[in-house]
Amino acid sequence: MGLIKRVRQRKTSELASSSSAPCIEPSNYLAQIEASGVGLFWATDENDNLAYLSSRALISLDRQETDLLGQPVKSIFTDAESEDDQINTRSLKFLMVSKAKIENQIVQIELNENPDGKRRAPRYWRISGKPYSDADGNFRGYRGNCEDITLEFRRNQDVNRQSQFDELTGLANRRRLNGRLETILSSYQAAGRSCALMMLDLDRFKQVNDTMGHPAGDELLKQVADRLNSLIKDKGEVGRLGGDEFQIILPDIDDRGDLGNLAGRIIQMLSQPYSINGRRAIIGTSIGIAIAPYDGLETTDLNRAVDLALYAAKGSGRGTFRYYTTELREEAARGADIQDNLSDALEAGEFKLNYQPLVNPDNGEVKCFEALMRWERPGMDNISPEIFINIAEQSDLIVKLGDWALHQACRDATKWPSSIGIAVNVSAKQFMTADFCKSVSSALAQSGLDPARLELELTESVFVGEVESVDETFAKLKKMGVRLALDDFGTGYSSLGYLKRAPFNKIKIDQSFVRGCTESGDTNPAIISAIIAIARALDMETVAEGVEAMDELALVTERGADLVQGYIYSRPLAQDVLLERFDQGVLNFRPDGPPRYRSDRLTAYRKIGLIHEDHYYHVMLRNISKSGARIDGLAEVPVGTDIVLDLGGGQLAYASVVHSGESSQGVAFETPLINDGNNGLVTRHRVSPYSLAEAGMPLAALGEGAYQMPDIRPEDKLPPKFIQLDLEARAA
Ligand code: C2E
Ligand code: CA
Ligand code: CA
Repeated sequence: MGLIKRVRQRKTSELASSSSAPCIEPSNYLAQIEASGVGLFWATDENDNLAYLSSRALISLDRQETDLLGQPVKSIFTDAESEDDQINTRSLKFLMVSKAKIENQIVQIELNENPDGKRRAPRYWRISGKPYSDADGNFRGYRGNCEDITLEFRRNQDVNRQSQFDELTGLANRRRLNGRLETILSSYQAAGRSCALMMLDLDRFKQVNDTMGHPAGDELLKQVADRLNSLIKDKGEVGRLGGDEFQIILPDIDDRGDLGNLAGRIIQMLSQPYSINGRRAIIGTSIGIAIAPYDGLETTDLNRAVDLALYAAKGSGRGTFRYYTTELREEAARGADIQDNLSDALEAGEFKLNYQPLVNPDNGEVKCFEALMRWERPGMDNISPEIFINIAEQSDLIVKLGDWALHQACRDATKWPSSIGIAVNVSAKQFMTADFCKSVSSALAQSGLDPARLELELTESVFVGEVESVDETFAKLKKMGVRLALDDFGTGYSSLGYLKRAPFNKIKIDQSFVRGCTESGDTNPAIISAIIAIARALDMETVAEGVEAMDELALVTERGADLVQGYIYSRPLAQDVLLERFDQGVLNFRPDGPPRYRSDRLTAYRKIGLIHEDHYYHVMLRNISKSGARIDGLAEVPVGTDIVLDLGGGQLAYASVVHSGESSQGVAFETPLINDGNNGLVTRHRVSPYSLAEAGMPLAALGEGAYQMPDIRPEDKLPPKFIQLDLEARAA
């Protein structure tokens, strides 16, 4: 029952029951009740203009009756705005237009400006009211009460704010991000819009935290937040999920070219040095990218997709970004399987070492072989060491595996000519174990190998360890007489300080500088020259890794690399193949490879689709570049034909045939492909599941978790124009 009504009822009953009671003016009762603080009252006329506001209400607003009465009530009471929650289920306007009862509506009321012209914070009232009709049933306005809840409202807002924002950086927290994403995705589904999600994880943040202290780590996170905010501005919302993980919601972006550019800029910007209390810190970041609706329709799917993409980005060498693809899910499943089987495989003797020569390019003489691990799983495809070593590094298994490799390599090398050395890869985790030096000396002692023939390949990540123990290990190894090589140089921190700190005999220039170094405008030759100059100054040997083509060999030798390793001389070879060569007295290698390396052409060998008119053909993709591709498997395709290549996952590339051979064609893309952040190429856009839904494909039917490309094959209405060749037979 409304307060006014109660007051009225009481008033009449009191008047009726006791004629002796002093007669009090009804307005006085009202005034007394108001004064007791029970409530404030309001009323409107039949035109929804404010007709009455009790005196304490006016005091609460610090306004005069004259400046409010007669004004449209909807201009005085407006629905309160809250950052996130919708506090009122219906708008006040709606309720009043439909002459409905108003119950606990929260409104905000503006105050007059301060004398100095500054806006004052609004008041918040919880109002209730009922439409009032006269005896003839005509609507006469609202009668209601209200309560000033300004303090409570503001307090709630603060609590709300704290629960939605990260205290340290002021960025949205996980809860808010999820809420925002949820809202965006559900409203975008109806509108067929897209939304990209980026997930960032800082590289080397832990080191800053550990070496410079937590307050410095906090300061760093704040600076990262500022940099992200200044880059993203109103393009999206930046949040911190916790620790050194950040997320960015980017509504209405699905162009993978633009997203890649943005990710590249973020990586660059966050990798610039930070100044923290006068000290310098350098970190990096890896980024995963997933896009709704292609990679997931719901928040959980999109979050899972972006997680996998980030994981892959971190795995592919930090400071990179990766888009989510369905293969990543398969990879993750495979990773779990590898993890489960690694330790049994070591017991079962499924690991082997192959040896790749490091050759003196002046005379083709082999100086040393690098031991590269192979896992031959019976009845299964071989798995690249890049994958299984990475997984082994996540547990202590890498220590056992590395120890085995060290012993095996030393044993094998004793059967080679004594002029040839053996290089063994050592993982940072293995290097940092207390027993590492013991393991090296036991491998030497058990095999009887001359320590001077053993070379350990280390990466810069060993310097992450505790300074004293790292330096002590270096000193011990040196004392044993083994050689040290710095592997993959140029991809890590590449600090000159590290080069001076450790007594390296050799620097291995990473493959990424060698690959494509002969292309015009490439800066890699300059980097190669610089690394070689530094190495010479420090009296270290240099190796150019991953040389495949003759022009690359010419370049690296001209720039002064002492040794060359790569397919140009040999792929890694099994021990029995090596022993056979040695038996025949062959100690030299001759370069053999393509005249030129074309980095823009990725060799590929996979089945894709080709759509022409109403037909879907199967073709083999032979190679692909940003601007075109070579395909195989169709005959009689005229030059100039417009086709669509279905590259999978919703990637349709419009192209036209530019050369045509008996069974293979070269095609040029209408829109160039873009780099996928992982040496691959992808289309900028994908066919949206929404457009497929429009064509009758139910959205819910699109693969669980990941958006899978449904069959887009047209119905065969006309006879095919081209002759489909048998791909399996051709592959064989
Ligand atoms: P890495 O130490 O940089 O080894 C060189 C890699 O480049 C090898 O790959 C080798 O086969 C490959 N490679 C050599 N020449 C060429 C070339 O001309 N073109 C191309 N495309 N590749 C070339 P692999 O054998 O797959 O090994 C990959 C990585 O796995 C190694 O990189 C190393 O980091 C790790 N790894 C391999 N064996 C071991 C091991 O016994 N212990 C540890 N800790 N890591 C290992
Ligand atoms: Ca190596
Ligand atoms: Ca290497």
